[in-house]
Order: sequence, then C-alpha cells, then structure tokens
Amino acid sequence: MKKPPITNYKKSDLDKFDDIIRNKKKEIKEDYSIKEAIAQSKAEYNNLSNTSSEIRLYMFQTGTLKTKMKYIKMNQSNEEFEIPVPWFLIRHPKGDVVIDGGNAKEVSEDMHAHWGSVVAAYEPVMGKKENCVDQLNNIGVDPSSVKYVLHSHLHLDHSGGIGRFPNATHLVQQREYDYAFNPDWFSKPAYIRKDFDKPNINWKFLDHKNDDFYDLFGDGSIILIFTPGHAPGHQSFLVKLPNTGYVLLTIDAAYTMDHWNNLTLPGLVCSAVDVVDSVKKLKKIAKEKKAIIVTGHDPDAWEDFKKAPMFYYD
Ligand SMILES: [Zn+2]
Repeated sequence: MKKPPITNYKKSDLDKFDDIIRNKKKEIKEDYSIKEAIAQSKAEYNNLSNTSSEIRLYMFQTGTLKTKMKYIKMNQSNEEFEIPVPWFLIRHPKGDVVIDGGNAKEVSEDMHAHWGSVVAAYEPVMGKKENCVDQLNNIGVDPSSVKYVLHSHLHLDHSGGIGRFPNATHLVQQREYDYAFNPDWFSKPAYIRKDFDKPNINWKFLDHKNDDFYDLFGDGSIILIFTPGHAPGHQSFLVKLPNTGYVLLTIDAAYTMDHWNNLTLPGLVCSAVDVVDSVKKLKKIAKEKKAIIVTGHDPDAWEDFKKAPMFYYD
C-alpha cells in the first residue's frame, strides 16, 4: 500500500504566532573590544529581571573541525574542508538556555584520548578556553544559571554541554538517547559515550510523536522541531526574538546551505528519506515565519552571523 507523502505537518502552536519579522541589522562597531562587550554584558545581566521581556540569542563555536568534503557532502571529493562547530545560548527571562554546547572541554586537552580514531576523519581545532563553560563565563553567565540544555542530537560535536550545568534539565529525544547507547556500526564513531553516560544528569525525554513542536517556555520563544535523518532523534530549533524575528537553527538537519537547497546529502546519514523530509518540513516553517536560516556547519554562511562574545541577536 502506498503511503501518501507528508505535506501537512502537525498543526501546532506555531500557527498562533504573529508573522511579523523585523530583520533589523545592527550597526557593527568595528572597534568594539571583547573587554567592553564582557563588561556591557555583565552590566546588562544584572538588570535582567524575571519581569523583563528581553530575549537574546548568542552564537558561539567551539573551534572548528578539519575534515574532508566527502564527510560533509555525501560522495563528494577528498578535498580538505574545515567546518565551524556552533552552539548557542538563549537568555530568556525565565532562565538561560544552552543549545548543544559544541565539543566537550576534554577535546581541547587530549583529542585522541577523548575522541579516539574518529580524529582521523574529523580533527578538532579547539583552544583550551573554547568550551561552552569558559565561553559563558566570558559574557558573565554563571553555569548555575543555565536552566535548560537542549540537545539537537548526541553526536560528538554537539555533546559538550552535558554535565556542565548543575541546575539544568537536559532535553533530548528519547529516540536519540536510546540510539546513542546502541548505534549502528556506521554512526558509532560519532557517539562518545562518556559525554552522555554521566551520573546525576537531569534528563527530560521527548517523544517524537507527541512532543513535536515542543514549546519550551510556553510563550513561543523556543520551539523544538523533530527533524530525523542525520540522526534518528535529531531536532532543530525555532527561536523567536523581539526585534530580529524568527531564527531557525537547523543544526545538522542541514549541515550547509547546499544541504538546505537539496544539492547534497550529509556525509553521515541514518535515513536519507528522513533527511529530505526534514529539510522539507523546515523549509515550510522557515517560509511561513520568514525565519533567518542558520545551518549546522556551513563555513561560509557562518562567517556572516554575529558571534559572541562581541555580539548577539535580540
Ligand atoms: Zn551530527
């Protein structure tokens, strides 16, 4: 029996939100120093109370990975390709939210000890202070203030935030968590068990069938969207900011704009059919919400975004 193609995704809270996007480009002051940015961020943080409606998105990276084109774009060349490893912070009046956290801190200390043989395919370039905790400290955010860590999936370049935030609840798709403990042979090197198999982690498991479009704070500011394919329990994030409007963090549902534009599949894939369907799903949402698209590891597109600690989106 032929299953009809999925063209209508679950009606969700998304429909309620206003469609207006203000794509206000902030003037970038070239001479703005990191020191000034940190001081300003700290001062602003002290003023941020629970009644504030300010929501901000900070974009970070835990360095880069040196890899080959074919590991990012399926069946392509052996050409050298270096990709950023992004992660994100959302400051919300109800609490700070970390998305992923990039590579684990240990990678910067001894990449071979922590990642093993996968280093041959993905060689991390990561400074000793380029981990999520030190980077948060840089903008005056105390790790204990982080309320949620949202996990797109549990691959090695996304698992750096686990166990770093004592008061955080970690949200992951149940399907992804289960798979991470028992991956298929081809994706096994991408899961570093010591990153997620830790004691005393407060996990909250989402069910992909019932929790799609999970609205984290109930105000539409952060929506979790189930986007399997690259990993079985992958999810992407739609962030709604007061001035910038909607920002869609595809994470690895689309590594690069070529993936977004259906020109290539990811080098690492669990289901090509799901990959394509997830891009289709995200495109529909992006179009509806006029969202800014942030892909997972695009070296060119990533250049153009405003990065922490200097800048943020509000
Ligand atoms: Zn991945």
